[in-house]
Amino acid sequence: MGQRFGLSKSKLMAFWQCPRRLWLSVHRPDCVPADETNDAVLAIGTDVGVVARLGWPEGILIAPDGPLEAALSQTRAALAARRPLFEATVQQDGVLVRADILVPRPRGKAFDLVEVKSSTSVKDYQLADIAIQAQVFAGAGVSVKRRVLHYINSAFIYPGDQCYREIRPDGTENSLFAAEDVTAVVQPLEAEVPGWIVEARRTLAGAMPEMTDSCDDPYPCPYQAFCHADAPEYPLSCLPRIGAGAIEVLSGAGYTDVRDIPEGVLSNPTQEWVRQVTRAGRFDRRPGARAALRALDYPRYYLDFETIQFAVPIWRGTRPYEQLPFQWSCHREERSGTVSHTEFLDLSGADPTRPFALALIEALGAKGPICVYNQGFEGRVIRELATRHADLAAPLTALLARLVDLLPLTRAHYYHPAMKGSWSIKAVLPTIAPDLDYAGLAEVQDGGGAQEAYREAIDPATAPERKKVLDEALRRYCGRDTQALVRLASFLGGG
Ligand code: SF4
Repeated sequence: MGQRFGLSKSKLMAFWQCPRRLWLSVHRPDCVPADETNDAVLAIGTDVGVVARLGWPEGILIAPDGPLEAALSQTRAALAARRPLFEATVQQDGVLVRADILVPRPRGKAFDLVEVKSSTSVKDYQLADIAIQAQVFAGAGVSVKRRVLHYINSAFIYPGDQCYREIRPDGTENSLFAAEDVTAVVQPLEAEVPGWIVEARRTLAGAMPEMTDSCDDPYPCPYQAFCHADAPEYPLSCLPRIGAGAIEVLSGAGYTDVRDIPEGVLSNPTQEWVRQVTRAGRFDRRPGARAALRALDYPRYYLDFETIQFAVPIWRGTRPYEQLPFQWSCHREERSGTVSHTEFLDLSGADPTRPFALALIEALGAKGPICVYNQGFEGRVIRELATRHADLAAPLTALLARLVDLLPLTRAHYYHPAMKGSWSIKAVLPTIAPDLDYAGLAEVQDGGGAQEAYREAIDPATAPERKKVLDEALRRYCGRDTQALVRLASFLGGG
């Protein structure tokens, strides 16, 4: 009999995604790069969990960070007292689980198990997650009657004053959480859990399993750099809009790198263009963009927004995950070639959307094209601002007709092999203006980093010196985005 590996819900969920992921998490934890995104996801989940507990003010929190033995004995005592429990912890047959909320039923000895998620709908993998908990709790002698999933109700409008559930005067409910009783769908899965445990242990006792194609399903796997280290320089996934089926067909024909594919195999014109450029090893700039750009009047504005989303809204009148703008950068180009810069950033922690809109209207004046990269995003933010601040709707809506989207223009006229199938500004910029590469920015290098910096900056616990560093990093990052658009327009226009 070999080593008997201890398991937890997160390990079983890793196994559920990909046996190799579980194996690597135990035998090769060193090959995970530091991943800040996971921290942000965790922070969102924590907020949501804390707010969910407000529904049971008499509940007992089992210290999740203390010694395991203490959590286990506290849980036993609290179960006996029949009070609602948060982070109730049990270990059964070497499998450790914690339940977000256990609620004693009014009669009898059973409990309802409440799992709290920050998603806005019920996902399959969440059912597996609940099945593992319910099965282990049952094995530990805790009778679970109902399995209930609390997830975020995206229609919730925050009324302010820390209120996350209210009955409106018209009798309708406005609640941050939607609840779904998933007992009927989870119970059949529970019968499979003992088999998962056996298989997970067998996996851990064996050699490293083969790779699967679940690397982003249901979550991005942190071992991708390790598993795909030997991937070809231009994998088939570089072909734009290629589906899994087409990749399988091409792989089956023996092609692993885009450069392997001969002429006449790809029927999609964009994929064929990418293939040709990649094989040629140098960029291609097609005619057409120049005329479109030369037709633009002056002054020309180059605009970019940064937005923030909160699972638990913090500003009155806002919804969960609503994209709320807190920063913009604008470069203005005159016919003479002179370029000036204006910007807006609000790190006060108050709702920034009104001062954002007022400053934007003033900076953009009454005429001149406004160049953006992905008009869908900027256009949506402007429309939502107009809805939110009705007195500013007319000047905000007037901006929409002036938007010029450089993304489709670039996609139709420019490709460089180093873009590897992406026309994101971060993929394009290093190929046309290496001196402006985002990697040269210190603290904030992408939209996710900007959101994290913003969250930290508005946290009252953040020291003033740190806030100043974040302020500068955010201004450099957003300013770089619009500087990039000026260079891109100049490049495509042949300047
Ligand atoms: S990167 Fe993909 S193959 Fe590798 S462990 Fe993760 S899910 Fe499995």
